[in-house]
Amino acid sequence: MGIKVCKFGGSSLADAGMIQKVRDIVAADPERRFVVPSAPGKRWDKDRKITDLLYLCHEHAKQDMPFDGVFEMIAERYHQIAADLGLSLDLAPHLEEVRSQIANGAGADYTASRGEHLNGVIVAALLDCEFIDAAEIIRFDKRGRFDPDTTHDLVAERLKNLDRAVIPGFYGATAKGTIRTFSRGGSDVTGAIVARGVDAEMYENWTDVSGLLMADPRIVENPRTIEMMTYSELRELTYMGARAFHDEAIFPVREAGISVNIRNTNEPDHPGTTIVKDEPSSKIVKRGDELRRLEETPPDEIGMAVRPAITGVAGRKDFTIIAIAKALMNTEVGYARRLLDVLDDNDISFEHMPSGIDTVSVVVEDERLEGKLDAVLDGIRAECKPDELEIYDNVALVATVGRGMMYTPGMAAKLFTALAEAEVNVRMID
Ligand code: ASP
Repeated sequence: MGIKVCKFGGSSLADAGMIQKVRDIVAADPERRFVVPSAPGKRWDKDRKITDLLYLCHEHAKQDMPFDGVFEMIAERYHQIAADLGLSLDLAPHLEEVRSQIANGAGADYTASRGEHLNGVIVAALLDCEFIDAAEIIRFDKRGRFDPDTTHDLVAERLKNLDRAVIPGFYGATAKGTIRTFSRGGSDVTGAIVARGVDAEMYENWTDVSGLLMADPRIVENPRTIEMMTYSELRELTYMGARAFHDEAIFPVREAGISVNIRNTNEPDHPGTTIVKDEPSSKIVKRGDELRRLEETPPDEIGMAVRPAITGVAGRKDFTIIAIAKALMNTEVGYARRLLDVLDDNDISFEHMPSGIDTVSVVVEDERLEGKLDAVLDGIRAECKPDELEIYDNVALVATVGRGMMYTPGMAAKLFTALAEAEVNVRMID
């Protein structure tokens, strides 16, 4: 029997009604042995996430301002959940401990992590299984960086003889026990780490959408769900703004070749999106041939088993292109390095760097350039002595992601026709 690790997001645990759905999902499959909960999220659009309220408490305490009102909202939510679930669990001492730690100057990471910690205690009581504090097994180094190797050993060792357990998401601790968190949405990362540690067959990521969609539903009406995709495709789509899964959560599962299944707690029978290992390119070439043949087949005869050439489309706005031209650039040793040094000196990372014989451009996110553009341009003028230096702002990146695409003739023609018809100018292609 394989092992499934189930991570449930904040909206899946926002109140007792949702937590009951979680219990039913876990009970429906004996392979679902390890559960990673987030903190309670929003119950409705304008509601507040517990994590945000905890950060707010910490901010107040830091400024020496009373935080009792905000803390009361948090305590109330947990008490309500426990009562509605009919648990005999006494949360008062747990909550009092958190309150007094915050009052005594606990750090932001400790404070925020208690959202998951308390929810973990509740979910473990409800599922009647062991609670394992993530601080014991998820290790960060002294500088607050995640330590994957030590963590892997600790997780594997601690969980190996357990039949079932609940491990709260989002945080871990240094060797000395100081609590550290991942970046926001980090329970996804915890789930992936646990999946790798117990050598799971599947990492189920339960959220409030039935998998990833082929396009942004705010732009495209009723986009189809992506049934199956590879880690690389997911990485590209999430980089391009598709909201699904924490960026860093891909690495632990990819390393171990564990499939990820993104599912909807409100629609548990929907298969969602499954993310699988990348295919060797020989297979993709074959798929290209297959897809070419399929081009002539009417779409409704293709059937669901065959995936379309494009897995998904995503995009992001607010980029700037810095374009440099210099005659005989190709003969100058170290030109690109000097350009990148200027970015380095200004502590700026870049997204893409397309180049021609006498030209090179860098695409940078606007946010990274804020307040630094003049310094960067001066630096480039001084170091690279360009013939021309131009800035194009208000640039968007659009990615079409897919496997067979590269081997399907006419693909680019279709994409660029669509852009031309929408009167969108293409500045560069990568
Ligand atoms: N509760 C944390 C957050 O809101 C982590 C998570 O939900 O994954 O970012």
